[in-house]
Amino acid sequence: MTYSSEARDSYQRELSRMHEGGLFKEERYIHSPQGVEVDVEFPSGSPPKPVINFCANNYLGLSSHPDVVEAARKGLDERGYGMSSVRFICGTQDIHRELENKLTKFLETEDTILFPSCMDANAGFFEAVLTKDDVMIADRLVHASLIDGMRLCSAQRDSYKHSDMKHLESKLEQYKDARFRMVITDGVFSMDGDIAKLDEICELADKYDAMVMVDDSHATGFMGKHGKGTHEHCGVLGRIDAITTTLGKALGGASGGCVSGRKELVEMCRQRARPYLFSNTMPPVIVSAANAVIDLISRTTERRDKLEANTKYFRENMTAAGFDIREGVHPIVPIMLYNAKLAQDMARDLFDEGIYVIGFFFPVVPKGQARIRVQLSAAHEKEHLDKAIAAFTKIGRKYDILGKGKKEIIDMYGL
Ligand SMILES: *Cc1c(COP(=O)(O)O)cnc(C)c1O
Repeated sequence: MTYSSEARDSYQRELSRMHEGGLFKEERYIHSPQGVEVDVEFPSGSPPKPVINFCANNYLGLSSHPDVVEAARKGLDERGYGMSSVRFICGTQDIHRELENKLTKFLETEDTILFPSCMDANAGFFEAVLTKDDVMIADRLVHASLIDGMRLCSAQRDSYKHSDMKHLESKLEQYKDARFRMVITDGVFSMDGDIAKLDEICELADKYDAMVMVDDSHATGFMGKHGKGTHEHCGVLGRIDAITTTLGKALGGASGGCVSGRKELVEMCRQRARPYLFSNTMPPVIVSAANAVIDLISRTTERRDKLEANTKYFRENMTAAGFDIREGVHPIVPIMLYNAKLAQDMARDLFDEGIYVIGFFFPVVPKGQARIRVQLSAAHEKEHLDKAIAAFTKIGRKYDILGKGKKEIIDMYGL
């Protein structure tokens, strides 16, 4: 078999089409540890430029925190580098079980199982616990990894309109004769930063005898009074049957994920989930650091409190400056611009001002809803926020969008 010229031409044509359609994803290179101040090479080949980072999932500022780096080093020294086997064959280290127990306690669930990533947790979960006699009813805006996980499962699939509880209820009614019903949602939706109505979802689940499954990747560690996640924020601790989440965002940001919830569901994953059974587990160095992260955020709410204060300060001041912001309380702050080119141009100008943000447009968000998505961190100091607000204001003035709403911006720039 050769890599034929026909195959090569076909891929080259497809890649050119992506370039022409503005859909080709250009990567940026960071020449420093992940943090609030990073050196970014962009465009590729230019000298790295120091910028303030507003586009990482480093919500608690732990990615390069000295205590976390130290714990990782200790893990490396004491438990070595690799495991060289999946857990069910050669066994696991005690620190893996320790991390599972810590996550169980922190999330207030019954048991936890680690996966190499949350993508893998979602890929393995449904197939491990549901059969063709069951129904999965998912919010229409759930994360791609949940969609892939559901595709791998033989249960029937259906969806409800985003956060529409009436529609969800009609679906639960429709499937009341199935063996099990499972409602599936993100805890926080990553494009708008809006929060699932878990209190209402749990009420409906009780009424129609359904299970509730939540992917809390954009919430674990900082949403809710103690940072436990959306279930704490919504007052439904103990009522979510399965939570999947990532260690790749607020919890240190390296990698790893888990399913945490009812102990039988977790045990079914241990017996049956394919990404758990057939892929290597997390390396000791990351497990050791993650244990330190859970200790740190269990000891004090200082970091999530600071993140909450930063979010409030930024949202208030950007609103006062005249930006059109999706309302909410989450550190994802969508600055609405509607027009794709405007979002790209403003992000580039902000980069020149030393503010690192990314424009999002179709197909990542619906057509006509282009935006710059700002993400705040507990590691931002007031001076970082003030610099960003000043830069946004300067660039907003340049494009004459301050004080303007959706209709006026679309009148000026089109869709
Ligand atoms: C980031 C994210 C994931 C993927 O997490 P990884 O651990 O990096 O695989 C899954 N689900 C949601 C909702 C996410 O935001």
